[in-house]
Amino acid sequence: MQSSLIGKIQKANMYAREPERVALSEIGATFRGEHGSYDLSYSDGAWGCSCNSFPASGICSHVMAMQKLVGTMLPAEARYWPVTDPAVATNGTSSP
Ligand SMILES: [Zn+2]
Repeated sequence: MQSSLIGKIQKANMYAREPERVALSEIGATFRGEHGSYDLSYSDGAWGCSCNSFPASGICSHVMAMQKLVGTMLPAEARYWPVTDPAVATNGTSSP
């Protein structure tokens, strides 16, 4: 393998352990809830969800779960509460 590619992989591994480097500006997802699948979005600073709960209160369990999933990668104004324990375990390890 090329040494330059090895260097990129090593840097990527380091970056992947530092999610605070990433600030998501948009999210589009299908969320599979207990009662159905919903279109979930974050765009232009606003959350959206196609479930029944969201239009009434502007908050729902799907959006709350997504906030926990992406954790520190969300800008502060996109979080309902401060992130203290981001759920970042995609590489099989938990952050310290
Ligand atoms: Zn919802």
